[in-house]
Amino acid sequence: MGAGFLCFGNHSTDLICAESWQTRLGFATTIEPLLMWKSGMRCDIARWVRTGTKIDVGRLLTESVITRSAMPQQKNLRELFHDTLKDIYFAEKKILTALPKMAKAAQSEELKEAFQKHESETEEHVERLDKVFAELDARPSGKTCDAIVGIIEEGQEVMKEYKGSPALDAGLLAAAQAVEHYEISRYGTLKTWAQELGLEEAVQLLDTTLAEEKKTDELLTEIAESSVNQHAEAA
Ligand code: FE
Ligand code: FE
Repeated sequence: MGAGFLCFGNHSTDLICAESWQTRLGFATTIEPLLMWKSGMRCDIARWVRTGTKIDVGRLLTESVITRSAMPQQKNLRELFHDTLKDIYFAEKKILTALPKMAKAAQSEELKEAFQKHESETEEHVERLDKVFAELDARPSGKTCDAIVGIIEEGQEVMKEYKGSPALDAGLLAAAQAVEHYEISRYGTLKTWAQELGLEEAVQLLDTTLAEEKKTDELLTEIAESSVNQHAEAA
């Protein structure tokens, strides 16, 4: 089934003409009037959907016809899913650059190890996202995520401002938990959308990563409660 858009200028009466195209061109269509803004002017648009025999598209490509790509897109859940996938892809890559620095800065051996372990998990998170992109038939790509940039910058500030201080690890740990919570939020949403969109492999992949993010968050809470916070307080 083909689909496209016909632009009939800003005269709503032209839409009546659109209906007669069906007869004139001899193909079966359904014509659905839409409204759009073009160069600040309201235009009446008819969306055509080919439902029957092959049509002569060349005959439709007159000056009054605009293609789907020229129109402002009506974005749907699949596009929102794809965009959010790019957001978390960017975030994971950014996290991959931050974790080694955090591991290096951490004073507690336990915290250092937790960061190192999560770095290798994060590499797998990126690989899983590659597979989710593949299920969408899309090339893996990132889109700047200001939220993760901000969270990571806060972590870097802590490293600088608390360097050599007993509270450094508590600050690093808190920054890392902010990162995990961001990821948990994103993966939870993406998994739900993947379910809605019937992307079965994506649901599994996103769920596996979501479980690892939650586990990391829990491990960080344990480390905070068992040693890091007391160390920061005692000094
Ligand atoms: Fe991750
Ligand atoms: Fe993570």
